[in-house]
Order: sequence, then C-alpha cells, then structure tokens
Amino acid sequence: MFVQELVLRQRAEILNALCSSGSAEHLEQVLDILLAQGELIWEDYQNIQVPGRALYANARELLDLVYTKGLETCGLFLAALKQVLPNVHSVDFTFSGYCSNLEEKEEYQSTSTQTLLTQRPSLVSKLQCCIDGALKALVTSGHFTSADCDEVRLPIHTPSQQARRLLDHVRSKGESAAKVVLQYIQQEQESESPHEKWTPPKEVLKYQKKLSSSVSAQSCFLSTYAGTSHMSLDDIYTKCELELAHNCVDVHGPLGLEDILGTVGTVNEDADTVLVSGDAGGGKSTLLQRLHLLWARGSAFQDFLLLFPFSCRRLNSETRELSVQELLFQHCCWPDREQEEIFQFILDNPHLILFTFDGLDELKQSFSDEHRLCCPTQRAPVHILLFNLIQGSLLKGVRKVVTSRPEAVGHVLKKHLRKEVLLKGFSPSGVDCFVRKHHSDPTVAAKVLESLQTNPALLGLCHSPVLCWIVSQCHVELLGCGEGSPQTITDVYLMILQHFFQHQTSPKSSTGLDWLQEHLHTVLHLGKLAFEGIGATCYIFSDPDLETCGVTEKDICMGFLIQSKDMPPTHSKCYEFLHVTLQCFFAALYIVLSNNTDRSTIPRLFEPQNMRETGLSSTCFMACIPSADKQGWALEGETRAAETPNLQITATFVSGLLSQRHQRLWLHCCSTDVIEKRVRQVVRCLSKGMQKHFKSIPQPVEGEKKSMHAMPDFVWLIKCIYELQESKIAKNAMSKLEVDHLKLTYCNIGPVECTALAYVLQHLRKPVGLQLDNNSVGDVGVEQLLPCMHICNSLYLRNNNITDEGIRKLLAKGIQCDNFRKIALFNNKLTDACTQHFSHFLKTKQNFLSLRLGNNNITEEGARQLAEGLKVNRSLQYLGLWGNKIGDAGTVALASALESSKSLVWLSLVGNCVGSAGACALANIIKNSASLEELWLTENCITRTGVECLIEALEHNTHVKSVWLRNNDLSLQEVEEMTQRESRLTF
Ligand code: ADP
Repeated sequence: MFVQELVLRQRAEILNALCSSGSAEHLEQVLDILLAQGELIWEDYQNIQVPGRALYANARELLDLVYTKGLETCGLFLAALKQVLPNVHSVDFTFSGYCSNLEEKEEYQSTSTQTLLTQRPSLVSKLQCCIDGALKALVTSGHFTSADCDEVRLPIHTPSQQARRLLDHVRSKGESAAKVVLQYIQQEQESESPHEKWTPPKEVLKYQKKLSSSVSAQSCFLSTYAGTSHMSLDDIYTKCELELAHNCVDVHGPLGLEDILGTVGTVNEDADTVLVSGDAGGGKSTLLQRLHLLWARGSAFQDFLLLFPFSCRRLNSETRELSVQELLFQHCCWPDREQEEIFQFILDNPHLILFTFDGLDELKQSFSDEHRLCCPTQRAPVHILLFNLIQGSLLKGVRKVVTSRPEAVGHVLKKHLRKEVLLKGFSPSGVDCFVRKHHSDPTVAAKVLESLQTNPALLGLCHSPVLCWIVSQCHVELLGCGEGSPQTITDVYLMILQHFFQHQTSPKSSTGLDWLQEHLHTVLHLGKLAFEGIGATCYIFSDPDLETCGVTEKDICMGFLIQSKDMPPTHSKCYEFLHVTLQCFFAALYIVLSNNTDRSTIPRLFEPQNMRETGLSSTCFMACIPSADKQGWALEGETRAAETPNLQITATFVSGLLSQRHQRLWLHCCSTDVIEKRVRQVVRCLSKGMQKHFKSIPQPVEGEKKSMHAMPDFVWLIKCIYELQESKIAKNAMSKLEVDHLKLTYCNIGPVECTALAYVLQHLRKPVGLQLDNNSVGDVGVEQLLPCMHICNSLYLRNNNITDEGIRKLLAKGIQCDNFRKIALFNNKLTDACTQHFSHFLKTKQNFLSLRLGNNNITEEGARQLAEGLKVNRSLQYLGLWGNKIGDAGTVALASALESSKSLVWLSLVGNCVGSAGACALANIIKNSASLEELWLTENCITRTGVECLIEALEHNTHVKSVWLRNNDLSLQEVEEMTQRESRLTF
C-alpha cells in the first residue's frame, strides 16, 4: 500500500494515538522529529502549533500537511510516530515499497540556529532538567527579558514544553542567542561529572531532617492497633498484591512498592499523579504508611528529597483558605527558619518532591478540574489546592501518589493520571505470612492457619487485609467457635465486637447478662455516632459530637474509637473509628437495634442514589465541617465520593445482622417484632433491587442468547444476600433470573465476591455462561466459585491472575460437571504445569467444546501434554492457543493429535513461533478433516515451503473456509502469487 494512503486510511487511529491522552506531548515529540529531519519548515510548525487551539485541531493540521507533502514526508511521519509511540498497535506502521530512516542529522551545522532545529529532540530532553540555568544564561547575556522567562516558565507547561518554548523563543532572538544556549548545554554536560555531586542548600537539608523525623514518627506504628496494643509497621507489614490497571507488555513478575513511583506502566508521561486504588480495608493507607517509613529512613524512594504526606480525611477539617506554601508547612512540617528559601527550592526543583494524599474518596468534594489555579502563592480552599496539585496546574513536576476506593475515581481524574495501580489485598501466601507475623507464638499461628484451611469462605475473606487482621486478632474466639466458625463479613465483625467487649470486661464484673446486652448502651452510642457520621460523610468527631450522641469516656475505652493523630493545630481532641468499615458496622448495628430510626431508613439505605435527596441524616458534625460554612456545605449538595460505597457496606452489614443465624443475639436488646419487621424490609429491598436489574435485561435478538450485563451494584446485592445466609432467599432471587449468559466483566470481583456469587448463582434454574473477564478472581476466587460450577456451561475468566494451581482445582471440579462445556483463560498466569490437568480433563470429558488458553506461558512441552488429551478427546471444537510459545515441535505434536479429529472447527496458533515444519504438520489436519473451518496462523514465521503444504492440503478439502497467514516470512510477490492460487488463504 502506498504510504500516503496508509496515513489517510488510518487518520482516526493516528489522531487517537496522538491525542487521546489529552496531553500535547506526543504530538510535540513528533513535530520535534519532523523539524529535525527538515520535513517541516519553521512556518509549517507555526501553522500547526497554534497557541490556544484544540489539540486535535493541531494534530489534524499536521496530518493534512504531511499528506500534501507526499510520499517521503508520510514515510518519515509514520517512522516518527512509531518512535514516539512504540506501544501503539492500532496504527499499522508497516508499509512496503518505501523505507524511512530517522537518522540523526550531522552533528556539525553551519549556524547555531540550524543546530537548534536539527538537534531539537535531544536538546529538548537535555534542556528540561536545566531550564532555570539556561534562562539565567540568556538573561545575563541580554537576550532574554524577565517577561520572556515568565512565558517559558508558565506553570501549565511541562518541563519538556518549557524546553520547547525556550528553544522557540531563542530562535526568534537570533543566532547569538542560539549560541548562548548551545554553549550553556555543553557546559552543563561537561560539569556533570559523577564525582561532583550536587548538594541541596543547607537550610533545605535541615528541613529535610525535621520532615523525615516527623514522617518517621507518624508512620512507624499501625493505627488499628493503637487502641489495644502497639504494633510496629516493620513487624506486621506484609506485601499486598499490586497490579497495573492498564495491561502493560513490559511487566515481568509481580509489582513491588517501588514500582508505584517507577517508570513501569506509565500511560501518560506528562502527568505527575499515580493513583493507587483498592477497596475499603484493602491496605491503601498502610501501603502509603510503608512508603513514608521507607523514605523517612532513607531505605527507598531517595530520588525524592522531600516527602509531604496528607490525609484527605484530615484535610476535610481545614476551614481556612490556604496557599500551597501554607498547606505544606502547616499541615506537614513547619520550617524553623528560611521558609521562603525552602519554598523557592520546592518550586525550582519539583522533580525532587513527593506528595501523598491518602483517601481521596473521603474528601467531601469529588475531584473536578474546573477551578484552575496556577499561582502557588494564591490562597484557596484546600480541596481546590488539592485538585490543582493533582492535575499539575500547581507545582507541575512534583510527583503525587493518591489513594482512593475505585468507586470514587471518575473519568475526569483518570485524564490526569500518570498510571493507576490496583491494590489487590493479600495473596494466599500473604495471608499465611501475615498470620505468622501477627502471632509471636508459632503454635497459635499454625492453629489459626489450620482453622482457615478448613473454612474456605473465611480464607477467601482473609484476602482483604482488614479482615485478616480481625481474624488474627480474634484467634481465641475463632479457635473456640468450632462448627459455627465465621462465614460472612458480618460474622467477622461480630467477632471483633465480642472480642473488644470481653477484652475490656474483667470476669469479676460480669453481670450475668450476655455480652451484647451488657454493652448495649455503648453499641447504641457508638452506633448513633457512626450512623450520623456516615450520613454526613464524616469520619472525625470532636468532643461535642461525641456528647450529642451520648458517647461516654467508658464507651471510648472499649477501643473502637481512636484519637485522631496529626490534626491541624487549630483542633482540640478528635476521634475516629479504628477503620471506616468498623464505622459502617456500628452504623448498621444502630439501624438494626435502635428505636430511634425512621421506618424509611432501611429502604433508603438500599437505594443510595436516592439518599442525597432525602438525606440519611441531617446532623452536621463539628470536627469535619468548617464551622463558618456549615450551612453552605449542607446546602451545596456537592457529590460526595465516599457516600455510596459506605452506605453499601453499611447495608451489607444490616443484611448480615438481620440473618436468622444472629437473631438470638438481639433477643434481649430489641423487640422481636421490630427485628422481624426490619428483616422483611431488607428482604423486600433486595428483591426489589434484583428485579430492577432483571428488568434491564434486553430481549434477545432472534438467534442470539439472552444475556445480562450486570452492573457493580448487582454484585453488591448478591453480597447482601450472601450475608443473610438463607438459601431460600438466594433461591427466590435466582428463580426470576432467566438468562443464558451472565456478564460480570470489570466488576472488581475478588475472592470475597466469588464466595457470594457462588452461594447465590448455584440456585439458578438453568445453566448459564458466566463471564468474569477482567476481574481479580485469582486462585483463591476460583476455589470459591467451585460450588456454582455445575450451573456454568461456559466460564470466561480472561485476565484474572489465575495460576496452574487454581486451574488444577477448577478442572478437578469441572470434570464432574456435566453442563460445563467451555472455558476461556486468556491472559492468566498459566504454564506447562497446568497442561497435564487439561490433558486428563480432555481425556475424561467427552462433551467439552471449547478451550481457549491464549496469552499464557505454554511452551512446546505443554503442547505435547495437551496433545495426549486431544488424541483421545472426541468433542472439542475450538482450541485457542494464541500468544503462547508452542513453536514447531509443539505444533507437530498438536497436529498429529488432531489429525483425525472429527469435531475440531477452529484452531488458533497465532503468534506462537510456528515455522514451515509446523505448517506442514497442520496441513495434515486440513487433508483429513471434514469439520475444520478456520485455521489461524497469523504472526508466525512460516515461509513459502509451509504455505505450499497448506495449499496442497486445501486442494483436497472444500470444508475449510479460511487459513489466516498475515505477518509471516513471505515476500510481497509470494503473497500475491499464493493468493492467486488459493483464495482461502488470507495474508
Ligand atoms: P484502606 O486504607 O485500604 O481502607 P488500611 O490500610 O487502613 O486499608 O488497612 C486496614 C487494616 O488492615 C490496617 O489497619 C492493618 O491492620 C491491616 N493491613 C492493611 N494492609 C496491611 C499490610 N500490608 N500489612 C499488614 N497489615 C495490613
């Protein structure tokens, strides 16, 4: 294809690749290259880079120009695009008949101005680290005024954009200015000798010392233990699983804490903010705490000279308007002297500074990029400062790490992210490690772990660090409960409730009442505080708040509330719950047990979207709402990011507490009538919620299956039903669900959700295809799903972190399930170690139809194992092995096993290093098969010899519809000739 046509045809893809990140960086890099190559002249560049015009419009202008300039420019343009965006696959950079080379132009140029052009890409990269120095040199030499400098240094520009603006300005100033810049860069390079390390000014080093000792003091103990015992972070910290939100080809092995700030997985070079997202109790705060501690100790993250940690929960309490300088110094660490110099250092060296913001979801305002603020000395409400810091309008270049629950991350924030890292809780070995760290006595640890092994549901829950902590903390209760060991999240929280109460009550003072009855007042006081707090998005409570809810000193002593650390100096003593989930649990206890809640509380709780209009609670708390502005906040009605997830957690606990299994607990605490009425309300709400989902199922198009794409709320309702632990309710809910295919992709499903799903879905009336692609099921989740396998005819688990061990368990169960016919496991962590299980499975299960194992790590050895099973299987129709490492030898083994298959319809070996030997072996399947319709061999290394074999085999077969051979080792002429001979070959 002509290269010009390629540019034209792919216009939409190219525009998207260049502009979809919202940053001009990619476009500007391409322009740098084209200028350097002389493909664009200065006037062209100015016509494209029109200040203030939309990015897409600039990119379109470039495409138009490149196209009109003809073949050579188009070729160089595609080559430049490929260099700037090597990972973009939507654009085809390959073009025949023309070869473009992006060679560096001769070092020597006749004028300095010319050198600025021909060396532009490397000058931009060199200059961005020393803009200030270069500007100083230009001012000193009289070429630049301070207005010129301000224009270059506009805070909205990234460092690379500042470098380009500097070069553009220099060009307009003429040859001698260009000479000054080139000389300056040369001097900089020469002086960058490794022996002469730059040291920061003394006052900054002093400040760093003070800051790091304050950060270290804040981060060395874990806060959940403060009420009971001190646990040092070093002793208890256990690695959690981290994953990139966007698939990334260059990730090998698990991500570590350091990768959060490393280059891996960067999707937007231009952005400074890394988001760590995870569920409540998933370990976000603890992860940041670890990061802080490692930095403060000098053990990691030493590229950053200063680290400023912020808690969004605490920022909610800031009533004043502040400048960035005041925010840093008043909220993190006050410099004893030379504040202005230190702040100037921060402004001048943004790449040496790190900010962390914990719990963006707890901020009262949702992220928005509407109020722009560029001036670091201007005062503004803290949330405006925070949003401008995150998006880089303020202190561009300072790296930020933000944590949040996923529900609170909207698309506006995503635009400003450098990358997103998902925090996935503990791995199975993490649970083991945590329990052993938690118990100094190894026999206790062993007993706890043993009891977890006998209770898969509880083991699944321990994947969440906060639950793992509770379970470990309550080992006495856990080991003493025998058969009634906890199954649900509510069970686990009831266990900690009992544990704390019993911990505080000496056996002598026992009143003869049962434990809950004895502490009912405390439950109701703390419950009221929690309930009203949830309604007002409030997590920090002042003394007057406690008083309003009747919370006494004795209630505080129970240990559920801890004193808030690091509050702004203007605040008196404040409290918060040990963890936000515990606040939700107390709110739920209040809803279940109090005589003072409204009849409509439960219905409103289960419909969080209506909550804002009606309001769960009207009380405003003192500590978390700016006093001068209480009215304003309440009336403003801004979206509160944390509201819905917390209400949903509360509703889940309400369901669990109203389960039949716990009814005897309430006997002496609340009238049975009231409890029963509340049970009926919950059951009604769940049924109504489910109906709403079922009603959204569209009627199937004729000939297609009836399919439901579930929303995340559906999973929440399922979790509520699970908490009730009544199979009658689960059965009832499922009796009305009539679909053939249930799609739950991207629903944040981990092991805990899998347990609930299996509990409920096992009651489906007829088998379904269960699609769980792109979640975090993992091996633990796979195990939790086993109880519903008999009702799955297809199971889609693409991209779910599953290893060979998970597959072993899944297949052992699947072999017994008659309905189970299809499995898709694309992009997991499978190796040759799982293929023997598949082989056994295929040998035994003679009604299995489809096996898709693409993008795993199966080699020739695995293919040999699979072949053993395939030889005996008589039912398999689809076999997908795309993107493994099967090679020629593996293909030969597979082909010989499938040669006489009467069922195989579709086979893919795309991207498997298959050569002509493999192709010739596959030709034998074609020769013999009356069932095969499609053979996919794209992206291999098949040569003419292999294709000749395939052509010959096709002469004997009219049934095969197509053989895909794109991107193999064939010349253009060969492709043309062979297409003529056999039209079913697609190149
Ligand atoms: P989140 O901020 O996601 O709500 P937290 O970091 O507050 O979760 O974790 C809740 C509790 O779980 C912690 O107080 C701690 O007891 C435990 N925890 C979380 N992460 C870890 C970890 N990596 N190692 C040990 N314990 C952890």
